[in-house]
Amino acid sequence: MIFVVIFVFGSVLLASVWRWFVQPMRPSLRVLMYHKLHPSRQDALTLTPKQFEDQLVWLKETNYRFVRLAEVLATADAQENTFSDGRRAVLLTFDDGFLSNLTWAYPILVKHQVPAVFFLPTAFLGKSSSWELQNAEAILTSAQLKTMSPLLIEFGLHSHQHLNYGKLTTAQIRDDLSACIQTLHAAQVPFVPVFAYPFGGRPKSSKKTEELYGVFRELGIKMAFRIGNRINYWPLADRFQTQRLDIRGTESMEDFKQKVRHGKLF
Ligand SMILES: [Zn+2]
Repeated sequence: MIFVVIFVFGSVLLASVWRWFVQPMRPSLRVLMYHKLHPSRQDALTLTPKQFEDQLVWLKETNYRFVRLAEVLATADAQENTFSDGRRAVLLTFDDGFLSNLTWAYPILVKHQVPAVFFLPTAFLGKSSSWELQNAEAILTSAQLKTMSPLLIEFGLHSHQHLNYGKLTTAQIRDDLSACIQTLHAAQVPFVPVFAYPFGGRPKSSKKTEELYGVFRELGIKMAFRIGNRINYWPLADRFQTQRLDIRGTESMEDFKQKVRHGKLF
């Protein structure tokens, strides 16, 4: 009996030491995933501008360091163990290129000089997010994309038709992703060759995953971002499965802090 108690107590102690002391010391990258801002609506995809700004202020005050994609890619390429400036790297990402990101998020990013990546579903530029069942919103035009400072806002790929890549053939994925890249070239919108999976959808089998990675390499994609609610540790296990923390307008500031610190809510 005494051995069981010692074993259980020891396991709990070790898990706590790992979570609170060892894990936070590891070189890491937190990628935050946002969608929309709206002054009077909060839901899973939507934060108020105040919520968003409060989060940025807390990240700054807590000495998290905002990084750009270029730095993330350089670190991944070098397979270095850490960023030059410690372990508290944070990359902000916004999916879908909503007009509300320019209207509400961009002024706050400029005010605090915080960089972010916008992932663009290119067939919808200048249209609306018609794939959404409710609260479909206007999506930025290529002219509006170019009004933002390239020092702060980088653009990445979010497929052409906002399709779930878990449900497409490899040939369909190649066609869609090629169209996405060609659209940005044609519109002369500069972009970083990184991809965010729409709906977080990825192939399930290892064969299709390898085929997808082949398409990524063929088209020059350097990194891909999924949803996962985990912190990434260096060196990355799989650069095409970089995890993001999904930031919800329905969660409190305390929830946000816990997600950033631990990658998930307990
Ligand atoms: Zn999306």
